[in-house]
Amino acid sequence: MSLCLENLTIHKINGDPLFPALNITVPPGEIVTLMGPSGCGKSTLLDTIAGHLSAEFRYSGAITLHDIKLDSVPAHKREVGILFQDDLLFPHLSVWENLAFALPDSVKGAERQQRATQALNNINLTKLAYSYPEQISGGQRARIALTRMLLAEPKLALLDEPYSKLDKDLRVQFRTWVVEQLKQANIPTLMVTHDETDVAYGSRCLTWPWENSHA
Ligand code: ADP
Ligand code: MG
Repeated sequence: MSLCLENLTIHKINGDPLFPALNITVPPGEIVTLMGPSGCGKSTLLDTIAGHLSAEFRYSGAITLHDIKLDSVPAHKREVGILFQDDLLFPHLSVWENLAFALPDSVKGAERQQRATQALNNINLTKLAYSYPEQISGGQRARIALTRMLLAEPKLALLDEPYSKLDKDLRVQFRTWVVEQLKQANIPTLMVTHDETDVAYGSRCLTWPWENSHA
């Protein structure tokens, strides 16, 4: 039940590869960080895994999730959750509605509000259910955004510089909390960042250019 990247490279059409062939396996419950400078191809790599690679690029190699080759699976069927640094909540929806929005379609009617409210209970933010995103703090929004991502029950989490919009104290707290949530979800997580302070204590981290990254 892991994410496997085998000999994965990405290049602009008629251009050089963005990075040397990447080989990595991320088992469930583990967060692996790829660290590299701005422009080295981190977001493009996550786009590739999620199935949103822009038309200027091509990739080669294999992406496997839970023994299924993702290459031919359309983006909306990959069950991949992505969290960006400025993950925006819908401003016109309350917090619980934002969470309910992410629930799988199989959850119907009143159960949607129950499940959203339960998720808020779990993160001790029940009091925010009827607040709107602009009425809550940046740290609270960040927690709601991660919770929303996990409510969709993804099989893989991708984090793109998830802490860079938060101030320093908040970052440390939020980072610890994110690690706990992802471990509980027991899915593989790949994080990309340019900032070494984002790396969870004791977790695996590969530094650009990610060569010899057999793992
Ligand atoms: P990072 O996330 O590591 O900062 P990106 O993956 O965003 O890097 O970008 C990798 C390279 O691809 C950069 O040189 C960037 O300018 C270029 N790039 C990113 N997106 C596009 C695009 N849609 N079209 C063409 N070039 C792009
Ligand atoms: Mg980026």
